Amino acid sequence: MESGLKERNKSFKGSVDRMFEVAAATMELEPGLADQIQTCNSVFQVSFPVYIRGEFRVFTGWRAVHSEHFLPVKGGIRYAPIADQDEVEALAALMTYKCAIVDVPYGGSKGALQIDPRDYDAAELELITRNFTMELTKKGYISPSLNVPAPDMGTGAREMGWIADAYRALYPNDINAIACVTGKPVHMSGIRGRNEATGRGVQYALREFFRHSEDVQRAGMDGDLEGKRVIIQGLGNVGYHAAKFLSEEDGVRVVAVIEREGAVVCEDELDIEELAAYRREKGGGQGFRDSEFVEDGSLLLEADCDILIPAAIESVITTENAERIQARLIAEAANGPTTFEADEILRDRGKVVIPDAYLNAGGVIVSYFEWIKNLSHIRFGRMDRRIDELRGQRIVEAIETAVGKPLPETQRHDLVRGADELDLVRSGLDDTMRQAYNEMREVFLSHDKVHDLRTAAYVVAIEKIAQSYREMVY
Ligand code: NAD
Repeated sequence: MESGLKERNKSFKGSVDRMFEVAAATMELEPGLADQIQTCNSVFQVSFPVYIRGEFRVFTGWRAVHSEHFLPVKGGIRYAPIADQDEVEALAALMTYKCAIVDVPYGGSKGALQIDPRDYDAAELELITRNFTMELTKKGYISPSLNVPAPDMGTGAREMGWIADAYRALYPNDINAIACVTGKPVHMSGIRGRNEATGRGVQYALREFFRHSEDVQRAGMDGDLEGKRVIIQGLGNVGYHAAKFLSEEDGVRVVAVIEREGAVVCEDELDIEELAAYRREKGGGQGFRDSEFVEDGSLLLEADCDILIPAAIESVITTENAERIQARLIAEAANGPTTFEADEILRDRGKVVIPDAYLNAGGVIVSYFEWIKNLSHIRFGRMDRRIDELRGQRIVEAIETAVGKPLPETQRHDLVRGADELDLVRSGLDDTMRQAYNEMREVFLSHDKVHDLRTAAYVVAIEKIAQSYREMVY
């Protein structure tokens, strides 16, 4: 029993389960309801052959459906050599809680293929992705009304485009076929702002955190984001966008970027755009101008900074390093970067953690917008943009007539401009991230038994999912 428990606690899913259980224990739920919410409804494992480089190669993948209290279920597909069923189940559970926290009406799902995408060229990856899509579709694990994947680690718009095309070929009569996956390229019925959405959501969430001076003080800081020293792990989709937006638009100073090959450190400030271009060209960050390179990059997780943003993989903050983490605020852009035990250590040390299930929800929020766009078959803003412009024009004319002189050109431009799809996506994302933060914060401040934002986020999620179950008639 003792060793079984230890083993379970070591796994990613074990961590997610224990975080759930801590939150559920603070609530008064009907007997058995917490178990139902926590249980993963189904997992599909598939192995399939693909003929590549003159031989048959067998690939193994999974798709887990955690909860179907809302349909479709939603969650990314990751391509990673270390993917396994435990990880997929943990990520599917996180998706359920995440969707509830940000009021996106989906159940949670997640998929993975055990593959290192760097080992294959684009044509091979396309073949593998199309085969994986066929396998998942045949069993009902991809469908616009039942199960809608999205990008995750190792996948992006290109892979989602292949999935959409393969699905469409199987169901040419389904008028909503293109809604079977989100995160597609914009020219393939994707939505503007999806690629940047998770990083953008991290930015909006941090802005909201810094609007609450008590929360900022609790983390041992003051003021706003301007000048805050940030260390970020992972310069992929999520990390790159978060670091870019926060440094270019909010004045944070990114002082270290931790990647697979090591960490690039600059006490002054790293230029994220330049560093990303440099890494693309050289295959790594070593030798980047005015920086120091630290081969054991994980050491930088423990370095002094205001905000640590793990944005790469799970289980990087563990009992091994949690005692030494110096960051005042840990903003979990990745899924599951902190293990259950490490989370307890951080809390005991007074560190503030903004939890993954809330912080990285930007992707699924904008995926929801894309899915709605696909089902309504019209781009957001298409019907009202010109009418908004006309209204703005009339307001400008009225003001100019009243004051007897023309408005400065920049004001005129801002008042007249109608919102386009990207404006609307960003507005919806910002609003959702702000509201969800305040809901989570309210629980944190008002419940005696809730001692951190993660538990608060889980309480918010569990309450909403429990309500759905109560309303279901069997
Ligand atoms: P990605 O594949 O685009 O980027 C991951 C980056 O992390 C890569 O640059 C990779 O080199 C780096 N990395 C991998 N292992 C590392 C290590 N041990 N140390 C340092 N760097 C390492 O993936 P992504 O889409 O940016 O996802 C990152 C995390 O965010 C994952 O946990 C994912 O589940 C989560 N997430 C992604 C999305 C999304 O929309 N893409 C949404 C929500 C959550």
